[in-house]
Amino acid sequence: MSINDIKEPWVKDHLTIIEDLHTNAESGLSSSEAKERLEVSGYNRIEAGKKTSLFQVLINQFVSPFVLLLAIAAGLSFFFKEWLDGIAITAVIFINAVIGFFMEFQAERSMEALKKLTTIPARVMRNGKREEVPSEELVPGDILFVEAGDMVTADARVIQSSQLQTNESALTGESLPVEKNSLPLPSNVQLAERINMLYKGTFVALGNGYAAVVNTGMSTELGAIATMVQQAQQAATPLEKKIQSFSKKLIWITVALVIIVFIAGLLNGHELVTMLETSIALAVAAIPEGLPIVATLALAFGMLRMARHNVIVKKLSAVETLGGTNVICTDKTGTLTQNKIQVSFVQVNGAASGIDVDIPGISIRWMENESISGQPAFEHLLRIAALCNTASYEFENGIEKESGDPLETGLLKMVYASGKSAQEYRHQFSKADEIPFSSEAKVMATLHHSSSQGYYIAAKGAVEELLSHCTSVLEGNNIVRFTEEKKKQWLIAAENRAQSGLRMLAFAFRNSKEKEKDFLHHLTLAGLIGFIDPPRPEVPAAIQECKSAGIKVVMITGDHPATAQNIAQRLGLANQDDKVVHGSSMKHFKDLTDDDKAKWLKATVFARVNPQQKLDLVTFYQEKKMVVGMTGDGVNDAPALKKADIGIAMGLRGTQVAQEVADIVLKDDAFSSIVLAIRQGRAIFDNIRKFVVFLMSCNLSELLIIATASVFNLHFQLFPLQILFINLVTDVLPALALGLTKAAPHIMQRKPYSPNIAIIDKKRWTAIFVYSTIMSITTIGAVLTSHEWLHNAERWSPELCNNILFYTLIFSQILHVFNMSFEKGISFFKTEVFRNKYVWIAIAICILITMLSYWIIPLRKVLDVTIYSWQDWTVVVVFSVLSLILIQFVKKMKWVL
Ligand code: ATP
Repeated sequence: MSINDIKEPWVKDHLTIIEDLHTNAESGLSSSEAKERLEVSGYNRIEAGKKTSLFQVLINQFVSPFVLLLAIAAGLSFFFKEWLDGIAITAVIFINAVIGFFMEFQAERSMEALKKLTTIPARVMRNGKREEVPSEELVPGDILFVEAGDMVTADARVIQSSQLQTNESALTGESLPVEKNSLPLPSNVQLAERINMLYKGTFVALGNGYAAVVNTGMSTELGAIATMVQQAQQAATPLEKKIQSFSKKLIWITVALVIIVFIAGLLNGHELVTMLETSIALAVAAIPEGLPIVATLALAFGMLRMARHNVIVKKLSAVETLGGTNVICTDKTGTLTQNKIQVSFVQVNGAASGIDVDIPGISIRWMENESISGQPAFEHLLRIAALCNTASYEFENGIEKESGDPLETGLLKMVYASGKSAQEYRHQFSKADEIPFSSEAKVMATLHHSSSQGYYIAAKGAVEELLSHCTSVLEGNNIVRFTEEKKKQWLIAAENRAQSGLRMLAFAFRNSKEKEKDFLHHLTLAGLIGFIDPPRPEVPAAIQECKSAGIKVVMITGDHPATAQNIAQRLGLANQDDKVVHGSSMKHFKDLTDDDKAKWLKATVFARVNPQQKLDLVTFYQEKKMVVGMTGDGVNDAPALKKADIGIAMGLRGTQVAQEVADIVLKDDAFSSIVLAIRQGRAIFDNIRKFVVFLMSCNLSELLIIATASVFNLHFQLFPLQILFINLVTDVLPALALGLTKAAPHIMQRKPYSPNIAIIDKKRWTAIFVYSTIMSITTIGAVLTSHEWLHNAERWSPELCNNILFYTLIFSQILHVFNMSFEKGISFFKTEVFRNKYVWIAIAICILITMLSYWIIPLRKVLDVTIYSWQDWTVVVVFSVLSLILIQFVKKMKWVL
């Protein structure tokens, strides 16, 4: 039987499936076998629509209204036997196609590069070892290992499971987790009931297990419904939509203007063919053809730049939302703190001490009470630390190898330093059952069996939670009843330590004769352990930056309020008198009174919060019309991450699910990266505005000049080919360079953008109009000056006038790039545009091409350029610079932006 022919894999016994798949449940496939199978099955991808071939991309460049207009112009030229013009316009069509093709190709490549950054790894058995491989390389027959928080990346038949539950809402709509096992099922069960199958696109909510991959890529159930997914992926981002509708508006304005110019020209006695060509060239000049693609490129480059700073943006639309973010909800551990969790405090009955764990020296240094090390309670603490723990830690030849929750590895380090072996504990007390840690319950417990001592229950967790399961406490060698009085004393002791920033956990145990199903009760408290997790040093500055940028930062943590408050104060996030909102006092969203709402709005620290409450907070802020960025790492954070305007997952700590649903992933988990992303988001939006204003004002200046010349019947005019040349030279390169500008110096001192903000608002429309008017006046001024003073009006030459018009406009437009900084109070030479090296490169190339048009004789002919004196050149340069100076002047006077 071929491995690709396995029908209904849920029906057969899992051993048969393994056989059918020609694989091995223990050792998996060999690398060479996997490679061979990959050639047959293909990459494990959902193909997002039909991929456009390079040829198609090239062809697409020729099907646009822009090219159609040019083709008409070329046709007309040939018809009227204007051979040179006809050939030149045809050349323009091709040059434009090549530029368009290159930009689109670059944009596509950047997107591909970004996609690669977000591929999920899968853990499989290869050559008898558990390995991590890119999930795209999974093949039928691979033995997949999954655990809570993992995305399932192929369709697979469960062969072994331990409390395995998956959430299949993406596939079936069912939001409750489904328990999985390996038992065979009847043939006719529905997808949602195939509880021995794991499906691509779903995620593991609890437990772990092994499964044999049966289908990959488009053969999976997800692949079958992929058209829906494709549609979702192809939706344009709000920014793209804004640009599209903006471009459409422009086309209508252009058409209106063109008609006016056309009629005016005819009334003034110009030839029909000249006016037709002029109108078409005008239209071509005014339509911002390159806008959408330059915008996409700017977004893609911005995203790549962020990727270099450890921020992976998964959705293009996130970039623009980032710029508008006005509240960041962040968790504490690892984002605001270093996540280097170390045990630094131990308390047993009657004694407490700070400790220092010395790994290489295999010793524990006791600050106050060394006697604790000999107490039975401490022995229990070590035992619970080793047993009620899913992490692993080894120290060999001076190298530490650790995996799992940093808090738990911190505990294993303490066990190691005390000279004990966690391995030995685990060997002596084998695990029989487990209540895994969850952010809701805030406790974890395990049940163990020892041949000599019977059953042993080990539990650890948030102090007030675990204490509620304790009925006794270990005092010396005696187990003593836990009175309310005593409980209170322990709680106060924990609170006091938490106030100094320690994360406090309680540890409890119980011996039992028999295996219990429900074992989290009647525990004996052994003691408390305090962990330090120092704040990240760069966070206070980042929080300060947020404050000046009008962004509220809120800490949402599962930790104790006192610990949270201490860390918040140290980071400059909260003051001493700020009230911490406690999760237990947080009402359900629907029941909130105005008073509660005011309290929530004011608070900056929320402690002992569970994932549902995180979701409530997102909803709350969104109702207050805020744009919410929310961090998260666990399985249960997924809904809040999805609901937030910007879901931010952690690359190091985060589960695959969190990373899957998030809009951005922080590779280094650091809070300062969020701030960096917001700064970048704002910069990208700024850049898009910059080049739109630039392109629009350049185009409008051309329109104004041609319209003026037509309406007033002046004796000089821009020729169609000249307009095309100006647009190819002065539009594309500087616009692209503007798209790569770094953030303006005071970008983080502005208020966040409103989400509905227009790219071109009233202020910008005015600016565009003023800029283009100034450029037109100085350009026409250059012609008149040259005419009146240099050539004494009598030796009037229309060609010369036209040339001065042409070159002055080119240089004014090139220099106009420097007007594209809109921050006030910054010297001209310190603006982000002046410091942008790409702008200088673009200018250099533009000037070179312009000069070539003067030096190369065929080009000169095409553009109707004549040789003229250095005095004329001086007029050109002086008036172009004058245009820059005048625009700078009106900007400095704050008459326009
Ligand atoms: P933070 O904002 O600091 O990242 P969090 O919201 O992720 O915190 P959780 O991990 O949900 O917090 O932990 C909540 C509480 O549960 C902790 O304060 C601690 O008391 C307890 N706890 C954390 N990890 C474990 C664990 N592995 N075993 C038992 N209890 C734990």
